[in-house]
Amino acid sequence: MKVAKFGGSSLADAFQIKKVCDIVLSDPEKRIVVVSAPGKRTKDDIKVTDLLIAVAKARLAGNDYEKEIKAVIERFNSITSDLNISDVLPEIENTLRTTASASYTNDVKYLDSVKAMGEDCCARLVAKYLNSIDVPAEYCNPKEKGLFLKHDANGKAVILNESYANLSSLATSDKICIFPGFYGYSKEGEIITFSRGGSDITGSILAGAVKADVYENWTDVDNVFAVDPRLVNNPFPITEITYDEMRELAYAGFNVLHEEALYPVFVRGIPVHIKNTNNPSSSGTKIVSKRTHYDSLVTGIAGESGFCTVTINKYLMNRQIGFVMNLLKIFSDEGISIEHMPSGIDSITFIIRKKNFTEEKQDRVLKKIYSEMNVDSVSVERDLAIVMIVGQAMANSVGIMARAASALGNAGINLKIVNQGASEISMMFGVSEAYCKYAVRVLYKELFRY
Ligand code: ASP
Repeated sequence: MKVAKFGGSSLADAFQIKKVCDIVLSDPEKRIVVVSAPGKRTKDDIKVTDLLIAVAKARLAGNDYEKEIKAVIERFNSITSDLNISDVLPEIENTLRTTASASYTNDVKYLDSVKAMGEDCCARLVAKYLNSIDVPAEYCNPKEKGLFLKHDANGKAVILNESYANLSSLATSDKICIFPGFYGYSKEGEIITFSRGGSDITGSILAGAVKADVYENWTDVDNVFAVDPRLVNNPFPITEITYDEMRELAYAGFNVLHEEALYPVFVRGIPVHIKNTNNPSSSGTKIVSKRTHYDSLVTGIAGESGFCTVTINKYLMNRQIGFVMNLLKIFSDEGISIEHMPSGIDSITFIIRKKNFTEEKQDRVLKKIYSEMNVDSVSVERDLAIVMIVGQAMANSVGIMARAASALGNAGINLKIVNQGASEISMMFGVSEAYCKYAVRVLYKELFRY
């Protein structure tokens, strides 16, 4: 059995939805289909989720939201009429209006409930369309099927474990299940959405629950590429990549799948297959636990700005037991997560995402370090980009670090930080933010010989 998730661009209009249904019907193993909300039809179009956010914001601001909700209804109207299923429009309009006008006590919960309707209505109409062409398919409501979520301590939506057992029954349905992505319910019956792009997580959860043979993630590109296609022409396509490699690249800015989407399939060893709705015959990219082949020595190169460093110097630091632990406690008490910790014998650097380290937090942290840790000096730099070279095959080859570092040096890029873990799956360079994209291009040219 396969779980197939289709993204917003695959469902943007009736033409795209027909393609999706052809793909589903061409393979009897695709029994569970997860849909996003209709996305952009053209570059300047607006995603249905963004139209819904505008509805909710207008209501929350105490304004009339008729214009905003009409824009959403119009999107669904044009899809349903082009698919010849206009009879489903009243149900969709009713769902949208009831949700938007419902009474609420909490702004965030209200926003979640409205935001989720793009996926919900899309699932209803895809099921209806399949029925209209005599295919047994049903809209599956996440509450009825038991997809329960809660908010963790940081306010992030996380799955309740019991959901996996509840959702496993989807495997035995004799109809194709059309499941809306992006949201589930709290045990109290309120809608909770994942963060943006979260339909990828729903697909992964369902694949995990039914122990699918593969989780197909259908999007609008043929492959994941070895480098951001906005940075180089015709980048090298990745046909196979491990979960670990993908995670490393996602960390440094590859946003192919939602960051949290790999976990449910990763722990169960279910492969992910990224495919193009607009070119289904292309081979796509497989994300697997063990590679079967390597097309290149390096799998991918990514870079991301927005980091800063806090460097602490203390003479004889290496002899002080518990020093690093006490430093870490200062950061954790402020709720700051540490991304990397390169160190020397008398110095240690904490790499942190800037967005998690506001100027106020920085002041408090520095004061505590000076008052509690008896250090020699602390310095903060708020201008760091991280560039990663990722590839499992690198572990068995010599000289990649030397080639990368000299290519960057020859290009005049100063390396502020260099880091490589013993797993040798990736190497990381810290450079000034202004050099981030340039560094990625230089490394790509060197390592892929283009
Ligand atoms: N529709 C939501 C978004 O635009 C979720 C998704 O498409 O995955 O973020």
